Amino acid sequence: MEYNIPLFKLNFGEEEIEAVTNTIRSKWISTGPKCEELENLFKEMFDVKYAISISNCTDGLHLAMITNHIGVGDEVICPSLTFAASVNCIRYVGATPVFCDITGLDNMNINPVEVEKLITPKTKAIVVVHMAGFPVDMDDIMRIAKKHNLRVIEDSCHAPLSEYKGNKLGTIGDIGTFSFFSNKNISTGEGGMIITNNEEIAKRCRLLRSHGMTTMSYQRAKGHATTYDIVDLGYNFRMDDIRASIGVVQMKKLKSDLIKREVVREFYLDALKDIEQVIIPFEKNKEFVSNYIMPIVLKDSTVEKT
Ligand SMILES: *Cc1c(COP(=O)(O)O)cnc(C)c1O
Repeated sequence: MEYNIPLFKLNFGEEEIEAVTNTIRSKWISTGPKCEELENLFKEMFDVKYAISISNCTDGLHLAMITNHIGVGDEVICPSLTFAASVNCIRYVGATPVFCDITGLDNMNINPVEVEKLITPKTKAIVVVHMAGFPVDMDDIMRIAKKHNLRVIEDSCHAPLSEYKGNKLGTIGDIGTFSFFSNKNISTGEGGMIITNNEEIAKRCRLLRSHGMTTMSYQRAKGHATTYDIVDLGYNFRMDDIRASIGVVQMKKLKSDLIKREVVREFYLDALKDIEQVIIPFEKNKEFVSNYIMPIVLKDSTVEKT
């Protein structure tokens, strides 16, 4: 069966085609100047010190675990309502995910009151997911984290440019991660970004993203470096310049796309407001958000159309 309503419509035009063509013509297609341009755009648009392009958000979350020193025997609190990757990353490093329920049907984000109850001497971090693009109550999360000396990882895949009290999501905790999978607000096919204000985390993410090598091919090709050393157990979690060049175009469209989404959400809120059978999560949200998803909850979801 083909759906009448598409899962996601790519916001692609001639600009993306041109950007890819130019990158191919430049003869540098792996991690290079386009990845750097995309990272710089993130730093500017998110007002954050460090941005590191990566192969996808799952790898970004994996690096977030390693660089926040989470490992075997540790516990990490994560939401029970999320995508698999924000839980799997905890297991990649041998730690144990501890599931925390959401606040309720009108707020589908992790419940800070429950988070605090789940803390044990083994707890090292909290993974928050800004569901559908709407902010987790970060004041409460950061207060709890500070009190118990926990790291905070913001899986911000749904929430590029979403805000919480004037701060961009992904910049409030220790580290934030984004995905550029095809159906996300910024689409490059596969890809992602790590952002942080922590220099130590940023440096190690950059190192581990490329085999733990002290220099990259592009730096050597440009004569900026002549040798490299391998100083850590690294991975290949790099983005490439073909996809980064699409990302640069996508980033430039992002704000206007989100403003359109805001208008569409208003339309839905108005159209659904008198319908008794539905709950609209985050209905009262007043923050600027990405509106990645427009969730609705059916009060009686067992009713099937005949
Ligand atoms: C899409 C998504 C991911 C995974 O991103 P990839 O780039 O596909 O690895 C992780 N967390 C959430 C909440 C997502 O929506």
